[in-house]
Amino acid sequence: MTNKKHFETVAIQTTEPNQDETGSVANAIYPSTTFKREDDGSFKSGFIYSRKHNPNRKLLESALATIESGKRAFAFASGMAAINTVLQSLQAGDHVIVPDDAYYELRRTLGELFSHWNLSHTQVDMTDLAQVNAAVQDNTRLIWIESPSNPLLKVSDIKAIADIAHRNGALCVVDNTWCTPVLQQPLNLGADAVMYSTTKYFGGHSDSLSGALVVSDSAPQSWVEQLANIQNLSGAVPSAFDCWLITRGIKTMKLRMQQQVKNAQKLARFFAEHQVVQQVHYPDLPNHPQHELAQKQMPDGCGAMLSIQVGEDQAESMQVIARLKLFTKATSLGGVESLVEHRRSVEGAVSNTPKNLIRISVGIEHIDDLITDWENALK
Ligand code: PLP
Repeated sequence: MTNKKHFETVAIQTTEPNQDETGSVANAIYPSTTFKREDDGSFKSGFIYSRKHNPNRKLLESALATIESGKRAFAFASGMAAINTVLQSLQAGDHVIVPDDAYYELRRTLGELFSHWNLSHTQVDMTDLAQVNAAVQDNTRLIWIESPSNPLLKVSDIKAIADIAHRNGALCVVDNTWCTPVLQQPLNLGADAVMYSTTKYFGGHSDSLSGALVVSDSAPQSWVEQLANIQNLSGAVPSAFDCWLITRGIKTMKLRMQQQVKNAQKLARFFAEHQVVQQVHYPDLPNHPQHELAQKQMPDGCGAMLSIQVGEDQAESMQVIARLKLFTKATSLGGVESLVEHRRSVEGAVSNTPKNLIRISVGIEHIDDLITDWENALK
């Protein structure tokens, strides 16, 4: 028996009330934007103003840092705010490498916003390490990984890519939104930081827009301080209520993930055997191109997101989606309810997603009901 506590225990322990004198077992919410000063000008509680610190954010950030075994965590008003903070920490003239099917709004941000800051970027197929190596330039300062990727579920070798980054004096940051720390721990694989849209599995109920960054123990201290400075000066911090929701979500995240992954595995196997489905993108399936790596990097499951290709074109795959009754037709993912969407029409101009691709976020409903719904829709 080891002394190291398990995820489930740490998730409960780190999210317990730490400010409360009432004995409340549930956490209180502190909506105050400002905090009292003593006559001598000091701040007894350490809190001054909510953009800088807030009791709910403090608890959430310390829980995130502990769960990831990181040096420090930062909570944001959205996943995009977390992404923007990392990009803002770079200098004009720097170069970034990103996956060619990274979350489309990251690619839009680089192309539409940061090109004005003279930040250049190269999109590569990160499943091919030779392409990653070849894309490195003298001014490459960041390699961004998203694994599994959105929406093609490509799996990248985090350890090998972190090594490439460090050999070339660059940072490596991993968007781990789809896996959560329950399934994949990028900091243990050498990444300098892990990024989350906590809007998804951390919240788990599609009712909090928020994001996070957790930096590793070995991340350069000057960079960590810069991230803290940007978090404060940009001001894209989450509300006390959002911090409270995410802190609460952490308590049940592993249970939810386990059920969602189990459902996704069964649904993926159903699709793999269905003659109408042309392709299933899910790393847990033995014929997935990076199945072996996926098993090594995500030994407890590859997540609860999957994509399928059905029909000849957008119209046909949208007809299939329209026939579903239990899957809510909506973008986003990670909630307890199953969602479905025609991905290319959501992504717009930057999309290189196949026209007939349907992206599915598998929830916690009974799997037999979910499969019956697809059986009917695919008839
Ligand atoms: N990263 C991934 C993988 C996502 O799926 C999303 C949102 O869908 C984001 C980042 C952006 O997060 P948010 O919508 O919370 O800003």
